[in-house]
Amino acid sequence: MSDTIEHVKCLIIGSGPAGYTAAIYAARANMHPVLYQGTQPGGQLTTTNDVENFPGYPDGVTGPEMMIQLQNQATRFGSDVRDGWITKVDFSGDVHKVWVNETKEIHCETVIISTGASAKYLGLDSEQKYLKLGGGVSACAVCDGFFYRNQEVVLVGAGDSAAEEAHYLSKLCKKVTMLVRRDEFRASQIMQARVKNTENIEILFNTETEEVLGDGQVVTGVRVVNNQTKEKHDIPATGFFVAIGHKPNTDIFKGFLDLDETGYIINSEPGTSKTNIEGVFVSGDAADHVYRQAITAAGTGCMAALDAERYLAAKDSSFEVSTSNYN
Ligand code: NDP
Repeated sequence: MSDTIEHVKCLIIGSGPAGYTAAIYAARANMHPVLYQGTQPGGQLTTTNDVENFPGYPDGVTGPEMMIQLQNQATRFGSDVRDGWITKVDFSGDVHKVWVNETKEIHCETVIISTGASAKYLGLDSEQKYLKLGGGVSACAVCDGFFYRNQEVVLVGAGDSAAEEAHYLSKLCKKVTMLVRRDEFRASQIMQARVKNTENIEILFNTETEEVLGDGQVVTGVRVVNNQTKEKHDIPATGFFVAIGHKPNTDIFKGFLDLDETGYIINSEPGTSKTNIEGVFVSGDAADHVYRQAITAAGTGCMAALDAERYLAAKDSSFEVSTSNYN
């Protein structure tokens, strides 16, 4: 266990757009935020090539570059950005306790959770290879669909996300082939109807991905197998979209915070960043299974820092709400 316990006014867990935005606001409000980056500094955006839908970047920006800029903006105002993984929390008392890498113990007046969610992938070697190369594998049609305009793509999944993403892609792409592993959808009837009634979406039931095909740099197709007949065939495609769900990174908060059945943190007061524990706030995808965009994550990061600031001001009359965040 730790030799010395560190005391922190505002601890931010996670380094995606939500965490960094919370840090920018918290630092400007004299809350001296300490931000732990986690194992994937920069979060999900570091696996995105070009970001073209974040306002303020008319020519687009790469995901990693944008995250470096956000980090620089946070440190410019004095945020203490650290490497480290929060392995345990204890929100049962007045002081919120957090452990870094199992050892270092921190006592926090406020905690802002920005741990995000991780897209699920199939786990095939070929899928991971082209994902890492940025060569045509994506888990976000809204982020990356634009790069496949007038091209043919394959999408895996049968839930509401898959149906929504297939429909979104159908407006950009020449053809979308949807791979459904069972003989039916999981998606709601209305979403199913939408994809079934879209001319350029072909649905293959009982069909699984065997391999993502490519030329070593980019995706060129997908080898699929019918799990009933065992027949295989190749589908030409330049994009392979995976829409089989997300897992919010909230396991360590179980038992302290109210989570929904998937693990998303539930806001105790809709329209705020508050959780069921006073002084603990949530921003970004850890509480959002609907929008999941960098810009919405950044927006809720701002909300969390402002909520934390007001909470501190209400608790401690010597801590004043800053004016800088309202300029
Ligand atoms: P879901 O968990 O609902 O669906 C995941 C889908 O992926 C399932 O159809 C599942 O198949 C399939 N799948 C899982 N693993 C594999 C695999 N290894 N190979 C092939 N297919 C696989 O996730 P969603 O992200 O779609 O939705 C999450 C929640 O968000 C849901 O409650 C949904 O209703 C909601 N949502 C609502 C929207 C809206 O209302 N507009 C939009 C998007 C999401 P199987 O069915 O065989 O298990």
